[in-house]
Amino acid sequence: MSGIRGRNTQPEKTTRKALFAAGLRYQLHSKGIPGRPDIVLPGRHCVVFVHGCFWHRHPHCRYAYVPKTNKGFWNGKFRENVARDKRVSAQLRREGWRVFTVWECQATPRYLARLAKTIRSIK
Ligand SMILES: [Zn+2]
Repeated sequence: MSGIRGRNTQPEKTTRKALFAAGLRYQLHSKGIPGRPDIVLPGRHCVVFVHGCFWHRHPHCRYAYVPKTNKGFWNGKFRENVARDKRVSAQLRREGWRVFTVWECQATPRYLARLAKTIRSIK
């Protein structure tokens, strides 16, 4: 959930554009769906989260560094975010949604084309 730091980030826009170009239609930040995913494709029961690597702790990613000052604070905050993401994904899956995550550092045309293809194959 990118709700932590703003909506409509560049990776989010890139992702939407790629899905749209692939003929997929979606809703944004739908209320009433756990975690208010960034992109919701109701017809295919898919949701896409576009996660900032820093806030959502992309594993092994150079953007997921820990600031040198106030480490305790940051680590606490990061733990909360990761725990929330896990909880939300689990709940969505229980409700029958397919959950996809796009990390900001992955939001490249090639990666997104592949994602769009995967989603299109889901009926
Ligand atoms: Zn990353």
